[in-house]
Amino acid sequence: MSLFGRRERDDLRSELAISRAQLRVCEQDARRLRAVLDAVPVGLVLSDLDGKPVLRTPPARQGGHVDHLVEDAVEQLLVAAAAGTRGERRLDLVGPPARVLLLKGIPLADGGALAVIEDLSERARLDAVRTDFVANISHELKTPIGALAVLAETVADHDDVDVMRGLAERMVEEAHRASSTIDDLLELSRIELGGRAVREVVDVGMVISEAIHRTALAAERQDIHITVADPHPPKAMGDSRQLVSAVANLLDNAVKYSDTGSEVTVSVVGTDGWVDITVADRGIGIPTRDLDRIFERFYRVDRARSRETGGTGLGLAIVRHVANNHGGVVRVQSREGEGSVFTLRIPASED
Ligand code: ADP
Repeated sequence: MSLFGRRERDDLRSELAISRAQLRVCEQDARRLRAVLDAVPVGLVLSDLDGKPVLRTPPARQGGHVDHLVEDAVEQLLVAAAAGTRGERRLDLVGPPARVLLLKGIPLADGGALAVIEDLSERARLDAVRTDFVANISHELKTPIGALAVLAETVADHDDVDVMRGLAERMVEEAHRASSTIDDLLELSRIELGGRAVREVVDVGMVISEAIHRTALAAERQDIHITVADPHPPKAMGDSRQLVSAVANLLDNAVKYSDTGSEVTVSVVGTDGWVDITVADRGIGIPTRDLDRIFERFYRVDRARSRETGGTGLGLAIVRHVANNHGGVVRVQSREGEGSVFTLRIPASED
C-alpha cells in the first residue's frame, strides 16, 4: 500500500521534474560561468570562509603564473582578505624567465575571499625599453649640443678670424649631427607607427635608384662606385617610401664603412614569393660577436668611427623595422677586414 494518494504522487512527480529542470539550468549556468572565468587572462583564486583556496582558474594553477613563491603570497593574501583585510603585493621574480606579478586579495561580501594574479611582465619590459630609449636619446643629443655650447663659448673668447672660422665649421658639423639624429628618430617612429598600412606593387628598380640618389653625394666624396647588378629587378609588394629608406640606410653604411675608391654592389633576386635586395661592400666588416646586436637602436661596433662618419646608430634599426613591417627579414654576413653583405627580404608582387 502506498503512503501517498494518486494526486499527491502526481504532485510529487511534477515537483521532481521541475527541480530536475532547475538543476539542469543551474548546472548549465555553472558551466558557462566556469568557461567565462577560464577565459579571463588574469589568474583568480577563490577561497572558503577561512581563506583556504577552493577554486582556481588556469593561469592561477601550477605551471601557469604560479610556483611555490607565488602560492605562499596568494595564501597569505587570501587568509587576510577572508578576515576582512584587502591587500596588494608586487612580486619581482628573477626567473628565468624574469616575471613581474601583481597580487591582490579582495574580501567577498558573503564571506571568503578572492585573489587576483596579474602578469605585468610585458608591461614592465616595455617600460624598461622606453626608459632605456629616452636615456639613449638624451645621451645622443647631449653630446653634440654640449659640444656646440663649448664651441660657441670658445668663439666668444677669440678674435682671430681663422680660429673663429675653424670653430664655426665644427659648430656646423655638431649641428648636423644633432639634426641627423632627430631626422632618424622621426623616421624610425614614423616607420614604427606607420606599420603595415601601405601595400602596393613596388618597382624595386625605382626604389634602388632613389636610394642611390640619396647616397650619391657621400659616395662621390669617397670616390666609391655603386653598381646595380640587375637593371630589371622583379616587382615587390609593400611601402615604397619605407623601402627607399631601408635601402638608402644600407647603402649609406656600405659607403661609410668602406675605404676610399672601394666598390659597392646592389643586386636583386626573386625567389619563391620573395624579393631579396642585397647590398654588398668590401669595407671594414663587422666582428662576429657584434653581428647579433647591430640592429639594436644606438648600437655601434666602433663608437669613434661611427661618430667620425656622422652615424646616428639608428640606420639598421630602421632597416629591421621596415623588414618586420613587410613580414620580411634582414640578414647580414660579414667578415672583419673583408666586407659585409646585407640582404633585405620582402614579399614579391603577385602580379
Ligand atoms: P650608424 O649610424 O652608426 O652607422 P647603424 O644602425 O646603421 O648605425 O649601424 C650600426 C653599426 O653597425 C655601425 O655603427 C657599424 O659599426 C656597423 N655597421 C653597419 N653597417 C656596416 C657595414 N656595411 N660595414 C661595417 N660595419 C657596419
